[in-house]
Amino acid sequence: QALLRRIEDTEPRVKAYLTLTAGAALEQAQAADQARAAGQAGPLCGVPAGLKDVLCTAGVRTTCGSKILQNFVPPFDAFLVNKLKQAGMVLLGKHNMDEFAMGSSTENSGFEASHNPWDLAAIPGGSSGGTAASVAAGSSIFSVGTDTGGSIRQPASHCGVVGLKPTYGRVSRFGLVAFASSLDQAGPITRSVADAALVLSVIAGHDPDDSTSDPRPVPDYAASLQRGVKGLKLGVPKEFFVAGLDPEVEATVKAAMAELEGLGAELVPVSLPHTDYALPVYYIIAPAEASSNLARYDGVKYGMSVRAQGGGLMDMYLDTRSQGFGPEVIRRVMLGTYALSAGYYDAYYGKAGQVRTLIRCDFEAVFEKVDAIVGPVTPTPAFDIGQKVDDPLQMYLSDVFTLSTNLAGLPGMSIPAGFSTAGRPIGLQIIGPHFAEETLFAVGHAYQ
Ligand code: GLN
Repeated sequence: QALLRRIEDTEPRVKAYLTLTAGAALEQAQAADQARAAGQAGPLCGVPAGLKDVLCTAGVRTTCGSKILQNFVPPFDAFLVNKLKQAGMVLLGKHNMDEFAMGSSTENSGFEASHNPWDLAAIPGGSSGGTAASVAAGSSIFSVGTDTGGSIRQPASHCGVVGLKPTYGRVSRFGLVAFASSLDQAGPITRSVADAALVLSVIAGHDPDDSTSDPRPVPDYAASLQRGVKGLKLGVPKEFFVAGLDPEVEATVKAAMAELEGLGAELVPVSLPHTDYALPVYYIIAPAEASSNLARYDGVKYGMSVRAQGGGLMDMYLDTRSQGFGPEVIRRVMLGTYALSAGYYDAYYGKAGQVRTLIRCDFEAVFEKVDAIVGPVTPTPAFDIGQKVDDPLQMYLSDVFTLSTNLAGLPGMSIPAGFSTAGRPIGLQIIGPHFAEETLFAVGHAYQ
């Protein structure tokens, strides 16, 4: 009830939710009370949470931020939603996001923009912008977002909360509306690193329904929180401290790194020489996969269907997709279809795949020398709503420091590190080797 009151108070300004499930939440809370009384409390028993609207929820509208799915009610839960329910979560509703998770500000949502609770004139980041804004505003205790190129870490950084993108394959993608399947990964957005460890321990694990889900057992993440950073080697990539990095972000991140040094970590200068290629490689691979994944929204199978009188099949495709998709989604479908077309495939998609391997090799070489990498999450603090909306390239640059992690399939976390003089939060990014989430928790918790 306290959370529902908080939602009523903050939503008119923050606009973090697209759908509220208050009635069902109260019933779930009662069931949680009964489970607790019966001694059957799961690890998230009675904890109220919202979820990014990219995650399928049985019986609860799942729009993915798109008009094309505005009335879509999935008949099933995503694997991770099912896990959260079994652990006792109370679902408050679904969070706003950029349409199909394409964006960095929630301004690409087909419905509305969310606002940063620290400064309502600022974007909350994206694409999990409603999610991070809600956790920061206290209108959900924790949440789960998704990150294809930075969409958990960048909004977490802008909203002063913790965001973890796990290793690719750690959390099942079953029931996560697909954007770019080789990059998409779900993970927790929370207020503390300890909460992130708790939520990941619930949602991680093997799922036979996702062929890219990893079978290895889920470690005791809570135990890793107390490990500390003494003796850990933290790599500082020179490519992350370059022109374009806001001086306040640089100063805050360097102060955080100095603090980790004070706690016993050793800072080691390292190089990720192919960093410059991450953005162009991502913007070939992600739109290519998106153009294929989004082919299913054709007006036939599910979602919006626009059928003009007397129109044929092609008219239905055209009308449904041009009215259902927003401009950024259409841009990506066009880019992706072009990159995959006959005669261009090798030059674009094939080449991007090769450079992606080089980017992964950069990280592998660095992780032979260090335990984790530290640096900025995003080049600037949150910008103003409207500031970059007409300039997609500027918007894409938001993710220059996060994209390479997804291309390499690595885990990355953003933790709050300070504020700009304007009072907008700044995060510190910690990147680990494959399946080294425990190291991220150790470093993050020691710092927090
Ligand atoms: N901002 C990036 C994009 O628009 C990343 C989005 C994401 O991680 N889902 O594609």
